[in-house]
Amino acid sequence: MAGPTIRDVRVIMTSPGTGSIQKRLIVVKIETTEPGLYGLGCATFTQRHSAVKAVVEEYLKPLLVGRDPQRIEDTWNTIHVNAYWRSGPVMNNAMSGVDMALWDIKGKVAGLPVYQLLGGKCREGAAVYRHADGREPAEVADRVRAYQAQGLRFIRAQVGGYGGHATITPPPGSLPGAYFDPAAYTRAVLRLFEHLRETVGDEVELLHDVHERLVPIEAVRFAKSLERFRLFFLEDLLPPEQVEWFRLVRQQCTTPLAMGELFVNTREWQPLVEGRLIDFIRCHVSAIGGLTPARKLAIVCEAFGIRTAWHGPGDVSPVGHAANIHLDVSSPNFGVQEWAGFSELEQEIFPGCPELRGGYAYPNDKPGFGVDLNEGLAARYPCPDGVLDWTQARTPDGALAYP
Ligand code: MG
Repeated sequence: MAGPTIRDVRVIMTSPGTGSIQKRLIVVKIETTEPGLYGLGCATFTQRHSAVKAVVEEYLKPLLVGRDPQRIEDTWNTIHVNAYWRSGPVMNNAMSGVDMALWDIKGKVAGLPVYQLLGGKCREGAAVYRHADGREPAEVADRVRAYQAQGLRFIRAQVGGYGGHATITPPPGSLPGAYFDPAAYTRAVLRLFEHLRETVGDEVELLHDVHERLVPIEAVRFAKSLERFRLFFLEDLLPPEQVEWFRLVRQQCTTPLAMGELFVNTREWQPLVEGRLIDFIRCHVSAIGGLTPARKLAIVCEAFGIRTAWHGPGDVSPVGHAANIHLDVSSPNFGVQEWAGFSELEQEIFPGCPELRGGYAYPNDKPGFGVDLNEGLAARYPCPDGVLDWTQARTPDGALAYP
């Protein structure tokens, strides 16, 4: 007996407008010929939202209508090669939205949450980490203690945001940008962790994100200097263009390393994983092509003793966060989950958001990812146009740096 086929593919964009980043959330909705059977997937790429919408509606929809929504693997590979050139941002985001929506449909057809389709729970909830930032170490310590009081065991600590804060007067004529001083930044972070271990103690698991702000040899020295603070992990120590330097970091210290949020190519992680040069893979699931490649990546990493820490910033839709959590609870090699939290408005727009209780995020037990979308409410918060400026990072002499 023939099952339902794909009837329509639509993109819903919304900007609930909270947090420091003006997030533009992108959701793909796949409707089938069976009344009421549809799936939702996260295709969010805040910085290029209209481009993702165009790819889904102009290029993927004609490819998908009439297909069997249950054939996820074949559909993923069809989309992957359909444009001939492949493995880039925008296209991958569009593909992720479609892929997750198909997993959502498969769960609904089976009457099972997606984590059951992935093998079932290895744990009840996913331990999360949240971000503590402040101008001074004492302020960061207060925020760390506030999160501990909420039951969190893992906390990322930053001082003055990415790259730290510094008063910089670049040479006259320098272009505007988000200025930072790499040397001042590393000194400030070492002071921060000294203060945190003295005042908050040894039991809390501390993390830090370098956000690719250092040149490679400075990065090696920084990882070595941080070793004595026993971080849970050090994130994005190097940009994707300089990953060969991880081998040198490994030879110098045992600071655990996390990498992957900027990866888009389906094989970019391979040398780091097979060389056991990182400890946590933390790709952005809606930037690498969705649940299908993320699930495979998790399984490969398991074989190499590498844990998962999927990217979970504010500019991922609740559907995308739910996909992370379904993977987390069903992966033996899960490490920790980054957690941005949802505003009341986001929870209203997306009924069924994963819930945070006592430091753990829980999926709900509804079929699929368990997250719905109130389209009428989403439409009341349209995405603004414009480009971001925080990515225009500059060093004291005015030169552009990785953001
Ligand atoms: Mg990061």
